[in-house]
Amino acid sequence: MEKLKVCIGGGLGFIGHHLAREMMKHGYWVRCVDIKPYEYGEVDFCDEYLIKDLRDRQNCLDVTKDMFAVVQFASDMGGMGHIQNPKNQYDIYFNNDIINKFMLDASIKNGVKKYLYSSSACIYPNYLQKKTTVKPLKESDAIPCDLWLEAYGWEKLSAEQGCIYARNIYGMDTKIVRFHNIYGEEGTYDGGREKAPAAICRKVIQAIKDNQTEIELWGDGNQVRSFCYIDDCIKAILMVFNSDLNEPVNIGRDDGISINELAKIIIKIGGKKLKINHTTGPLGVRGRNSDNTKFKAKFGWVPEWDMLQGLTKTYKWIYDEISKRT
Ligand code: NAD
Repeated sequence: MEKLKVCIGGGLGFIGHHLAREMMKHGYWVRCVDIKPYEYGEVDFCDEYLIKDLRDRQNCLDVTKDMFAVVQFASDMGGMGHIQNPKNQYDIYFNNDIINKFMLDASIKNGVKKYLYSSSACIYPNYLQKKTTVKPLKESDAIPCDLWLEAYGWEKLSAEQGCIYARNIYGMDTKIVRFHNIYGEEGTYDGGREKAPAAICRKVIQAIKDNQTEIELWGDGNQVRSFCYIDDCIKAILMVFNSDLNEPVNIGRDDGISINELAKIIIKIGGKKLKINHTTGPLGVRGRNSDNTKFKAKFGWVPEWDMLQGLTKTYKWIYDEISKRT
């Protein structure tokens, strides 16, 4: 029997390539499309990869042709340093908005049956995230909106809405997942687009290698987030992909921790006493956590990897990468 074909936009990026690997194991034929090559070794996780700019409509039409499903992860994104920088707002809005629109429209035109879109916890309103003692955010909290991250939030919400219209009008089986800080191996850990777990691992590794006594952390470190290890994230994506769920759903852990606590776990993994030096930097909302009631009710499962386990694996991978490069 011929394998069902899946195209993953942004498939050479962090979550995309992990998903590609797992989808191949599940018997799909997988095509990864990305604007830049895979950075961390051999591409052994898909049947085909193409380097293409998905801001181009014809490229979107070409890569989604003959596909059973499309997973749209391609995005101009990064950690706080990138998405909160005022200078990046137009590019983030414009690049991501047209990728999302062209990929969805091309998928409709090519008769793609299933479409999974990666939204973000960044779509949740500012007024619910002002304290570190926040209530976990449930899916219905998204509206009325009050976006703290203008461009990234708006393009994500707009793309979610596009998926809903595509389903209502064209009957496409659209899925919307809202990720809360996914971390793990084979993800960006330097260059300005890295997120807190990878950035802190890199800082600790570098401090130990350079015989320093402290690391820098943006802000007072009391801001709270929930972090989900990549293996759990992929498992959750596949549950949604194979289900009849079409409404947006959170993917994350519901035991948010402060950035100070995150740093302490990573310093413990590093095994050397390091002081935390708080500096100014982009911070984002004060507190954010994921409410997993909907996911649990639907799938009877919640993320399993705790922070120490997930960060230990991530730390080791970043340590090996840095050692290879220095
Ligand atoms: P990533 O940056 O590793 O992957 C995104 C990929 O998209 C990159 O490889 C990038 O090169 C590619 N891309 C960017 N512009 C492109 C273009 N014009 N044409 C083709 N490819 C292009 O990020 P990720 O962590 O794997 O995130 C995947 C998706 O999940 C993104 O949509 C992101 O917004 C969303 N998300 C991620 C997180 C997280 O914690 N990682 C949280 C919330 C939402």
